[in-house]
Amino acid sequence: MEMEKIGEKTAREWREQCGIVGVYNHPEAANLVYLGLFALQHRGQESAGIVSSEDGKMYTEKGMGKVADVFSRARLEQLPGRMAIGHVRYSTAGESSLAESQPIVVKYAHGIMGIAHNGNLVNAEQIRNRLVDDGSIFQSTTDSEVIVHLIARSKAEGFPRRIIDSLSKIEGAYSLLFMAEGHIIGFRDPRGFHPLALGKIGESHCLVSETCALDLMGATLVREIEPGEMVIISDAGVRSFKPFPPEKTSFCIFEYIYFARPDSTIHGLNVHMVRKEFGRHLARETGVDADLVIPVPDSGTSAALGYAEESGIPYDVGLIRNRYVGRTFIEPKQSIRHFGVKLKLNPVKELLKGKRVIVIDDSIVRATTSKKIVSLLRSAGAKEIHMRISSPPTCFSCYYGIDTPTRQELIASSHTVEQIGRFIEADSVAYLSVEGMKESVGHMKEKICCACFTGDYPLPVQEEQFVQLRLFEPI
Ligand code: SF4
Repeated sequence: MEMEKIGEKTAREWREQCGIVGVYNHPEAANLVYLGLFALQHRGQESAGIVSSEDGKMYTEKGMGKVADVFSRARLEQLPGRMAIGHVRYSTAGESSLAESQPIVVKYAHGIMGIAHNGNLVNAEQIRNRLVDDGSIFQSTTDSEVIVHLIARSKAEGFPRRIIDSLSKIEGAYSLLFMAEGHIIGFRDPRGFHPLALGKIGESHCLVSETCALDLMGATLVREIEPGEMVIISDAGVRSFKPFPPEKTSFCIFEYIYFARPDSTIHGLNVHMVRKEFGRHLARETGVDADLVIPVPDSGTSAALGYAEESGIPYDVGLIRNRYVGRTFIEPKQSIRHFGVKLKLNPVKELLKGKRVIVIDDSIVRATTSKKIVSLLRSAGAKEIHMRISSPPTCFSCYYGIDTPTRQELIASSHTVEQIGRFIEADSVAYLSVEGMKESVGHMKEKICCACFTGDYPLPVQEEQFVQLRLFEPI
């Protein structure tokens, strides 16, 4: 994955969406949610929040920044109760501010509710405009507030029915947690774009975006929530419903390629193992004589291991990543700046000198970083540099909750693979094929969204209705 613009803007070019955690009936509910969010930090670093519930009241602690920075022991002690939900956010729709952070808590005619959302609605704008015309007042620009308004206006009886009534009006990608009236309710959209799993801690239950959170929480996996499934967790136990007609599953393949943590299991497939399989297919499809396989750390590591195993070419660590470059990095003055990617990656010269090197990365977005990596490796003495990408060329933007550059900014939308190779000045460039990618995910082959590679969007989108976050300068 490309890294760019160290400093105030962004460190990556394909951004995660959000992570959600809910805990029901545990004396340390808020603390457990904190641990879950900590494990899901990779899904969003802009803001973190937890809402707990006790005696019909809700308590909120939220802040901008990472989980460990937002929450102190004192703040966690402000979150009493046996149920809590939490959220880490990277804004995919809406602006970036505390007002946009989640979970959202609202009082309405039937009481008080909390909501945490991972995903993006494709018809949020139309619904929002209709609601505003009808007199609704919005406090944020998030899609999630649209859902809150729909629930508040629903005439259906009882909280679960009001949720179903509201979700029947929306289209898009959502894994949602609701907390109200002695329930925590989890809902995964009928196409199952993003993951959601059910776990157990003693007699208590929890819901998490990814299974890696369960390990840190001391929970065991009960099962993954199915696309279109609603689970209601209450004193009556865990009840499951499928209120909407089934749809073709369109799980986001980028969860396997890049977003999810390698130690998570999604749809029964461990993410690290899937990435290794991408690497094996890549080696079969794009083999080249070389002395060494190295990953672009960390996102290319699993695929590079698979590539090396399949090709028989030794794996080694040719680029070392500095893990401590963050938002607070202060760029030096003009005379010594422009060191760009060197801030994050440093080549191991003694290893690379005179070698023919295969470099594995998970994707190329604008290719400016790939170009810098090739230049770094060249200056470290590598004799040949063959860039291999463990996913197909990304030609299309996402509208289902992933912040992507606009289509014009994706180099593969306007350049052939050969042109990209010339641009980054590598000896060769090759990508995994769409077919190879599908073969790598076994039983999920026909159940994945590949729209950013194929343009075949599982839910219709009209590009002009979306305001893509503009994080990057055009190529
Ligand atoms: Fe994932 Fe791409 Fe589909 Fe978006 S368009 S859901 S990033 S596969």
